[in-house]
Amino acid sequence: MDCLFCKIAAGQLPSNSLYEDDLVKAFYDINPGAPVHFLVVPKQHIATINDINAGNSALIAHIYEVIAKLAAQLKLDKGYRVVSNCGEDSGQTVGHIHFHVLAGRLLAWPPG
Ligand code: 5GP
Ligand code: ZN
Repeated sequence: MDCLFCKIAAGQLPSNSLYEDDLVKAFYDINPGAPVHFLVVPKQHIATINDINAGNSALIAHIYEVIAKLAAQLKLDKGYRVVSNCGEDSGQTVGHIHFHVLAGRLLAWPPG
């Protein structure tokens, strides 16, 4: 399958990597929307939130554990936002589930 984030997660394409284990990879977004902006993706291809099910949801829980660990390491003490865009209206551009972690400035709510 020709999937950008499958290739980045497998190390077949370069990225500014922050964390990696057997299941997931975290790397900085190429077009940051905040002073801190990284993405966490599963190595397994899951297209969107709509594809989360009982067979793969432990992987999603693991992603949140990794996010909590990285937030502590990066000292995001003032807070951060986790975003997973799903589908056309959300602005999802890459069809491999990913979790944006944004921090380092006051984040407006509601988002645009
Ligand atoms: P989405 O719009 O699907 O929620 O988020 C996709 C994100 O991936 C965007 O923030 C975009 O900047 C980022 N992105 C797209 N291509 C690359 C790439 O090749 N490398 C990295 N590090 N980020 C990318
Ligand atoms: Zn993929």
